[in-house]
Amino acid sequence: MFNIVIFGAPGSGKGTQSQKLIDRYGLTHISTGDVLRAQITAGTELGNIADSYISKGHLIPDDLMVDILANEIDRLRPQANGFIFDGFPRTIPQAEALKKMLGQRGEEVHSVIGLEVDDEELMKRLVKRGAESGRSDDNPSTISNRLKIYHTTTSPLREYYTTEGKYRPIHGLGHVDEIFQRITDSIDAHPSSPKAKN
Ligand code: AMP
Repeated sequence: MFNIVIFGAPGSGKGTQSQKLIDRYGLTHISTGDVLRAQITAGTELGNIADSYISKGHLIPDDLMVDILANEIDRLRPQANGFIFDGFPRTIPQAEALKKMLGQRGEEVHSVIGLEVDDEELMKRLVKRGAESGRSDDNPSTISNRLKIYHTTTSPLREYYTTEGKYRPIHGLGHVDEIFQRITDSIDAHPSSPKAKN
């Protein structure tokens, strides 16, 4: 298996680039945001808990998030060639839990693709996405909360994964295909990179 973390602030293009990576390498996508939104739509107890955090732009507590991720990994692993983790980890304890969880299954994170985009551009993209998709957390006050949390709590993971020798910074401005090319150049340079399907 080849496992990628796609990393970056809200609005940095993680979802868009993940879809392209799935098409190219046949990897399995785990987006924790999508998992939580599906629970909210289904009106489950977990969905209600998640909604109380998401609607304010807060993070879901680590313990709960780690359990959700472990379930997803075990559910999808039998048919997966590798995972793209999108939106997880968002905290250092989550990164440590991911390392342990994969290690117990004989797996590891091979590469952390960090989409680097400045705040002004992120704000513009998120406001536009909110208008187009109707995502309830893409409104200006929640967005600024999410960006704040990204800088205080999530961005220290860049250093964490740099120390692990896994962080690959990618310039996240430009055309979607140009950014994708930068990502695939980085993945293809990895000694155990997956074969492209197309
Ligand atoms: P996303 O779609 O990745 O932007 O996630 C939307 C929201 O879901 C976030 O703003 C958080 O409230 C919550 N969320 C998603 N992933 C995580 C995570 N790994 N840890 C905590 N909260 C998360």
